[in-house]
Amino acid sequence: ERAAAEQGPDTSRLTVLAGPTAVGKGTVSADVRARYPLVWLSVSATTRPARPGEVDGVHYHFVDDATFDAMVAGGEFLEWAVVHGRHRYGTPKAPVLARLAEGRPALLEIDLAGARQVRAAMPDARFVFLAPPSVEELVRRLVGRGTENEDERARRLATAEVEMAAAPEFDHVIVNDDVQRATDELIAVMGLVRR
Ligand code: 5GP
Repeated sequence: ERAAAEQGPDTSRLTVLAGPTAVGKGTVSADVRARYPLVWLSVSATTRPARPGEVDGVHYHFVDDATFDAMVAGGEFLEWAVVHGRHRYGTPKAPVLARLAEGRPALLEIDLAGARQVRAAMPDARFVFLAPPSVEELVRRLVGRGTENEDERARRLATAEVEMAAAPEFDHVIVNDDVQRATDELIAVMGLVRR
């Protein structure tokens, strides 16, 4: 028992969801949470400015560069990365460890570089890649969402192509051609249903 405590929390309850921009990570993870409120969704810190409708502390912790620097220096992040060549995003470590210690399933929605860092730190976590049915469909969704200008869209699509190539690194690849089905698959991968 003491040995188990010394090994720290059971990181197999942690699921890392990665995948290219606009693939639907937000929708799928919100759906998982709606069906399993016990699932805890990590709130990342970011230096990106809030979009209209985004709430500080809910969608992200919106912080300035100096605050992000201090968090990095203080070792407060489980992982962090510059995403789309612009802003920094990071997962605060303490809340993740606290939820895992409580035995709660935890879900992180992060980019490829971040997923690789978590893999190095917590190899027992479950690594899931959410893929679009095709690159054409990804473009359609990104344009349809209308939250980015053309420059930013081009930047995100460039990252997306790199990220897509990394899908085989993941334990599970879920194709998001249908949100309901993709959510069911993620729920099964997270071990939330008896099989
Ligand atoms: P957005 O700016 O659209 O909210 O997020 C852009 C990307 O940042 C998302 O695709 C997501 O994967 C990534 N991201 C969000 N939070 C984190 C985080 O804490 N760490 C890392 N590495 N990436 C993140």
